[in-house]
Amino acid sequence: MTNEELWQAVLAQIQFNVSKANFATWFKNTKIVSKNNGETLISTPNSFSKEWLSNKYNNLILKILHSLDETVKTINYIIQTPLPEEGIKIKNKKEKKEINPNQMGFEEFEINQKTNLNPRYTFDNFIVGSFNELAHAASWAVSQNPGSTYNPLFIYGGVGLGKTHLLQAVGNLIVENFSEKKIKYSPTAHFVSDIIRSIQNHEIENLKMELQQIDILIMDDVQFLAGKEKTQEEFFHLFNTLYEMNKQIILSSDRPPKAIPALEERLRSRFEGGMIADIGFPDFETRLAILKAKCEVKQIDLSSEILEYIALNLEQNIREMEGALNRLLIFKKINNKTPDLEITKKLLYNLISSPSLSTNFKKILQTVAQFFNLKEKELFTSTRKKEIVRPRQIAMYLLRTELKESYPSIGRKFNGKDHTTAMYSCEKIEKGLEKDNNLQREINLIRQRLYSGFSLE
Ligand code: ADP
Ligand code: MG
Repeated sequence: MTNEELWQAVLAQIQFNVSKANFATWFKNTKIVSKNNGETLISTPNSFSKEWLSNKYNNLILKILHSLDETVKTINYIIQTPLPEEGIKIKNKKEKKEINPNQMGFEEFEINQKTNLNPRYTFDNFIVGSFNELAHAASWAVSQNPGSTYNPLFIYGGVGLGKTHLLQAVGNLIVENFSEKKIKYSPTAHFVSDIIRSIQNHEIENLKMELQQIDILIMDDVQFLAGKEKTQEEFFHLFNTLYEMNKQIILSSDRPPKAIPALEERLRSRFEGGMIADIGFPDFETRLAILKAKCEVKQIDLSSEILEYIALNLEQNIREMEGALNRLLIFKKINNKTPDLEITKKLLYNLISSPSLSTNFKKILQTVAQFFNLKEKELFTSTRKKEIVRPRQIAMYLLRTELKESYPSIGRKFNGKDHTTAMYSCEKIEKGLEKDNNLQREINLIRQRLYSGFSLE
């Protein structure tokens, strides 16, 4: 067997072990360079795929290589920039599926009327990195064995980081493998309005009967249950009914159950009763990999300079990274040429430019109040209640960090409190941020909402 044949055989097996998107991202343009005294040298096209293969996939590659060629004992990786025409020769026909060059993304997919699932979200086009690998693994496990692995599965993480994608991927895979199961995907906001409407129309009993027939219930963004007492009550009963019949329940939220404000204790403890997995922020290498995978799907070839520029500047939101690519794609279509870095910077200016231009006092107050399910005016009361003190401190802290306001000015804004109160609040939050993960997460989420055009309800 030549080195090339051996590597093709390895790749063929690896395809079964990793998602399509990860395969295309990490294994493209790899090959065996040499095999000497048990040491196999594999070339990779760039430093990230080298890192990734040696850190994440080395064991898998070694196992498969060794099973095909017993003389292989260790693997080393080097970087070799591929020649233009080189690429993985994928033997699998499915992989060669033609992509319509006019296709922008997945917009042509239609949402299924019965399940409410969008078929564009699959495991195949979901990139896994260390930031989401637990959530991915748990979701995958649930899709293989709905109802009996983790119940409920609760996934949380910031805006635009793949919660909806994962939840729907589970749903879509279950549709494929267990066609007899009744699946329902529902954004929590829809669920809330369904419940309210059916109460008004005296149809709640019908709705309940209908919901109890579901085998897989997927509820997205359950933080929107905050303060919705009637809906929480109905949801609690639905949850119990389904749970007792071993029906799978999958939930997502922008924060862990214990940080959702105004959520009934009994619901919180139900949410915590299964598997909780979080999605963090992707690191630079992973952001690049995601961009590359998306470029492939969108069929746009951007220089690594441009991809690095985007990955460096859009750190916290995969949806925004996609938005950036779409802008470049539109440019390419209109002008019939691929943008260079200069043009890219212009096209992405308002997506990337300094966020401090785009927030203000009112927005900070609104966002903080909404995040903690408080009324804005509650932030100005002089109560010592913990539920209010901390949000108030966070609001002051954000005025300081985001708007560079002076302490006296912050103090004045909060009912003429003096500057020492403002200073104390900001220091308190700064100290807290050094060790309190929850606080870090909360402030991250609030900042995201401040800047990502997150719509206030
Ligand atoms: P969330 O629900 O957490 O706000 P979404 O699931 O809507 O985020 O993801 C935002 C966009 O980013 C979607 O278009 C989604 O397909 C894409 N995306 C998120 N995570 C990934 C990933 N790991 N791999 C590929 N695409 C992703
Ligand atoms: Mg979502």
